[in-house]
Amino acid sequence: MKSERLVMDSENQSEDGHLDPSIHAWAQYTSDNNATRSSSATAYVEPSKDNLHVLLNTYVTRVLPAEGTADFRGVEFAADAQSERKQLRANKEVIIAGGVIGTPQILLNSGIGPREELDAVGVRTIVNNPSVGKNFTDQVYTNMMFNTTIQDTDFDLETALAEWNANRTGPLIMPSNLKNQIVWVRFTDNEIPFVDPTPGENSPHVEFYFSQISSHPGFTNGEVPPEAIPTVANLTTIQLALINLHPTSRGTITLNNSDPFAYPNVDPGLLSGDTDFAVLREGIKSVQRLFSAPVFAESVFGSVYPPGSLTTDEELDAFVRAEAAPYLHGGSSASMSPRGASWGVVDPDFRVKQTTGLRIVDASVLFILQPSLPSGHTQAPVYGFVERASILIAEEWR
Ligand SMILES: Cc1cc2nc3c(=O)[nH]c(=O)nc-3n(C[C@H](O)[C@H](O)[C@H](O)COP(=O)(O)OP(=O)(O)OC[C@H]3O[C@@H](n4cnc5c(N)ncnc54)[C@H](O)[C@@H]3O)c2cc1C
Repeated sequence: MKSERLVMDSENQSEDGHLDPSIHAWAQYTSDNNATRSSSATAYVEPSKDNLHVLLNTYVTRVLPAEGTADFRGVEFAADAQSERKQLRANKEVIIAGGVIGTPQILLNSGIGPREELDAVGVRTIVNNPSVGKNFTDQVYTNMMFNTTIQDTDFDLETALAEWNANRTGPLIMPSNLKNQIVWVRFTDNEIPFVDPTPGENSPHVEFYFSQISSHPGFTNGEVPPEAIPTVANLTTIQLALINLHPTSRGTITLNNSDPFAYPNVDPGLLSGDTDFAVLREGIKSVQRLFSAPVFAESVFGSVYPPGSLTTDEELDAFVRAEAAPYLHGGSSASMSPRGASWGVVDPDFRVKQTTGLRIVDASVLFILQPSLPSGHTQAPVYGFVERASILIAEEWR
């Protein structure tokens, strides 16, 4: 790996040096001190005292303007499609936090979006904003597997569950497939002969997220189908996700019809540009170079997935086209843009452009220009700028 560098000893490391932690890291999990997965619900909502009221099983259908204005301090909601729709009006303001799909869906249903699209599904346009639901960006990845002689990390689920129940230890304190090591890699200009898609010359193009060593291929929704790798049945493989962190392809969220309970169309638009192919293709080569290093000579051999027989750029591109999937780290479907910009959905204070009384605070506002998606996973960065937004908003109403 070209970006890898050794740094000086520290913290009793006995080697001559060790990997710069900005490039190689242990995976961090949002678990609490009881080895239980923590979330925004447990970390923020539960500890809040009596100043927060959450309506359970409630679905926001639209935000509503005051008659004849673009002041969107009203919220329409219902338990489900059959239930009566109710309305609330905020004294101060309304904040939408429906995520990268839910937020543009609420805006579009409320008449905030591209006029032509809204006309086509019979929603009256109140604010014509062509950027709503556009620029949806997700990191794109493919799985990789190599034969190995290393001891597998498989475990018996029932035993592990019993251990976790007894004393909150064991393999179940980690996420699925024992994900633990992460490596970030930046390519040379020769390897990616396109406009740099990353935020800068110290940013990685790809992440290698290592998981289990197992005879079972890691497959969950959309990942490697077991029949795609017939040779794996009697082999133990080391497995990882190769992630393009800064894709240039853009997708869309659009409405199917004017029913707020209908699923929207979600087109992640993956791999619509040459750069994104080149990044995953070079990433595959980079991982293969890593495991061809002498240190792995006795333990890792032969690329199982993609099959080692695929060597040309065309073959690797075909593999990527068939196997890549969204990494579910989406953003930018209601992108922030500079104040006064002719594009974008919210201004730097998270206010929805051309409206009053309405903000968006979630991953949908992630900026589409550099720096775009984080050079890593999205949960913690989203919590970070959401905390910043909460300070901005609180200061304004103090
Ligand atoms: C399967 C999966 C696994 C992930 N794993 C990781 C991980 O391990 N690490 C990591 O860093 N990131 C991970 N991510 C990404 C991370 O979850 C997101 O970046 C983060 O949750 C985004 O926060 P958000 O507030 O924008 O949206 P969300 O967390 O999606 O919150 C939006 C909320 O709004 C609700 N909502 C939507 N529409 C409506 C409506 N009309 N009315 C009422 N409520 C509505 C939704 O139900 C949801 O609760 C994962 C994502 C997925 C999908």
